[in-house]
Amino acid sequence: MFGRMPRKSSNNTKYYEVLGVSKTASQDELKKAYRKAAIKNHPDKGGDPEKFKELSQAYDVLSDPEKREIYDQYGEDALKEGMGGGGSSDFHSPFDIFEQLFPGSSGFGGGSRGRRQKRGEDVVHTMKVSLEDLYNGTTKKLSLSRSALCSKCKGKGSKSGASGTCHGCRGAGMRTITRQIGPGMIQQMNTVCPECKGSGEIISDKDKCPSCKGSKVVQEKKVLEVHVEKGMQHSQKIVFQGQADEAPDTVTGDIVFVLQLKDHPKFKRKYDDLYVEHTISLTEALCGFQFVLTHLDGRQLLIKSNPGEVIKPGQHKAINDEGMPQHGRPFMKGRLFVEFNVEFPEPGVLSTAQCRSLEKILPPKPGSQLSDMELDQCEETTLHDVNIEEEMRRRQQQRRQEAYDEDEEEAGPRVQCAQQ
Ligand SMILES: [Zn+2]
Ligand SMILES: [Zn+2]
Repeated sequence: MFGRMPRKSSNNTKYYEVLGVSKTASQDELKKAYRKAAIKNHPDKGGDPEKFKELSQAYDVLSDPEKREIYDQYGEDALKEGMGGGGSSDFHSPFDIFEQLFPGSSGFGGGSRGRRQKRGEDVVHTMKVSLEDLYNGTTKKLSLSRSALCSKCKGKGSKSGASGTCHGCRGAGMRTITRQIGPGMIQQMNTVCPECKGSGEIISDKDKCPSCKGSKVVQEKKVLEVHVEKGMQHSQKIVFQGQADEAPDTVTGDIVFVLQLKDHPKFKRKYDDLYVEHTISLTEALCGFQFVLTHLDGRQLLIKSNPGEVIKPGQHKAINDEGMPQHGRPFMKGRLFVEFNVEFPEPGVLSTAQCRSLEKILPPKPGSQLSDMELDQCEETTLHDVNIEEEMRRRQQQRRQEAYDEDEEEAGPRVQCAQQ
């Protein structure tokens, strides 16, 4: 991030501009201006954290007569180089400045948690479920490891509960590095403070909490009970709000489980409907059938044809209220569709005599009505068995090879044609 390029004497009006006051503003005016702007830009209210930090920093300097004098005379850089107050450094985090000045007045956040409303990341897991799980509902227990605020130091990181302001950045968490890039040209860069890693505070080695070693967080095992409700869908999310990794001054993110439906050997699901394939013999297709289907909850469904019904290959039938339960209204169910395959007898199964008796029962064959004269005018043919898919694949391969060969041969002439 590259900042502006200020002139030789470093900028000493910026803080006034940030707060929108004149260089002669009284303490009272400063306070009013800061309050108004800080409430408007507070990150808890969706404001820009950088802008908020800038406001707080400006107010922190200008409200201190000593610092204000240094700033007016030498500008921002002078303060950063430590001319003001030396090591004592009572620069505070922007949130501390705001809260000290207006405790509880803002009406948002409040308490220890409302300090800095940075949001932690969500942790997303996929959870495999069977169709039975989604039909019947189920509870899965999952053990997860996560970061939690150290209970020994209550997330402070220190034995005493105190934390010192980082000297490297004076609590701002950010540091402005200044370097001269030419005569009278200074370049400023803002970077995250390497000493405190942006937290703005530092804990002395001997005061570090022995449990978390000053890191403020520890790893803990957490068991979550995930309730998969009847009728939930593939890719639906189950959210555990605020259960993800904890971190200081952070609103804890969510743990999210995304359901992933495993393939079922028998049933397929589309929305609230179920589909099942069933193969019947030709005899069943013509003369009726009945069979038992075990449902996803173990119930045995008796499925049978209506009297006199003939089933065609690929035909569908539906059973009402035997589909999936609707999520949230599990007593409402979709439909169960059955697609029928018809298995025909193998060649040679029927003798000539059997065929004759079938012909007597089944509708007459149209071919038998051809007259001798009509037959005389026809040519004889022979039917061969083919695997049509195999045949198509071979054709396609052949065509591709031919096209390739042609390209090879005619590359030259073709280019000439195109140029004419
Ligand atoms: Zn620091
Ligand atoms: Zn601790």
